[in-house]
This record gives sequence, structure tokens and C-alpha cells, in this order.
Amino acid sequence: MQQRKIPLRRCLGCNESKPKKELVRVVRSPAGEISLDLVGKKPGRGAYVCPSVQCLAKARKAKRIERALDTPIPPEVYDAMEQQMKEAAHDQ
Ligand SMILES: [Zn+2]
Repeated sequence: MQQRKIPLRRCLGCNESKPKKELVRVVRSPAGEISLDLVGKKPGRGAYVCPSVQCLAKARKAKRIERALDTPIPPEVYDAMEQQMKEAAHDQ
């Protein structure tokens, strides 16, 4: 039986609400730097996507991460995120 409330976040790719733990956090640091937060502890404003290249691609196309974080995201950051997701997927 689950008593504790699980925090849900919406994936910016598929638009589904999922437990925070199952999503990848993209964070904008106070200095304005965008990165993937794989441990969920980086400071700054966060946006969430499933750890899936498809969801990232959808969010990228619709510029939802840009909107959520209110900042432009350079293509190389998206590429780095995609790369990190692929690597993370290999570890599982
Ligand atoms: Zn998703």
C-alpha cells in the first residue's frame, strides 16, 4: 500500500504526468547554463522529459523546454542531452 504522495511532473515531450523519479530533469542554473540533471539535485529552474530520445525530440521540435525555462537552448545542448540519455539508457 502506498501512503506517500508521489510527486508527479509532466513530460514536455509526450505530455504525460509521471513520477518525478522516472523523468529526466533539464535545469537552468542561476548562471543561465542549461544541462541535464541526472541526479535531480542541481540548483535552478527545471523542466522534465522522459528519459527517451523520442520525447526529447518532440519537446525540442515544439520548443517546450525553451518555453518552460524561458531561455533559448543552443542545438549543442540538445545534442549533448540526447547523447547523455543514450548513455544513461545503456547503463540500465
Ligand atoms: Zn515523455
